[in-house]
Amino acid sequence: MSLHGEYDPQNIFAKIIRGEAPCYKVYEDEEVLAFLDVFPQSYGHTLVIPKRAAARNLLEVDGDSLSKVMAVVQRVAKVLVAELDPAGVQLAQFNGAPAGQTVFHLHMHLIPRYEGQALEAHAANKGDAQVLTELQARLQKRLAA
Ligand code: 5GP
Repeated sequence: MSLHGEYDPQNIFAKIIRGEAPCYKVYEDEEVLAFLDVFPQSYGHTLVIPKRAAARNLLEVDGDSLSKVMAVVQRVAKVLVAELDPAGVQLAQFNGAPAGQTVFHLHMHLIPRYEGQALEAHAANKGDAQVLTELQARLQKRLAA
């Protein structure tokens, strides 16, 4: 499965949307879900996904879903900056395995960047559950305000 192919409704993000798999949710509305990456590349690494679009990537998503996702991306980015005070924030999105995609439901990565800190490897090291739970609470609180 890569750039072209069928949407697999059993992918992990589809399961998270349906509530069949857990996530550290920080924001949800009718159209969009934001949750912590469980293999964070930096402290605060957050994923933002469309809930209704069965789109594997940027090429497949409808414009309405994409614009709703991007509005939440901006909102979460502002909250990450306000709460965690990073030196920068990286926005990343991969289309097809050769481009780095490993989960085939469209998602945006928001990755806070801190001075002098290299990124962890992509999708490699599981985050500490207590750290993720505490971070979830901080971000949830700000996003609910
Ligand atoms: P991609 O490589 O497709 O751009 O990114 C997929 C992301 O999903 C990776 O950063 C990876 O760490 C993350 N990921 C993989 N499985 C899970 C999971 O079960 N829960 C969460 N929250 N993130 C996941």
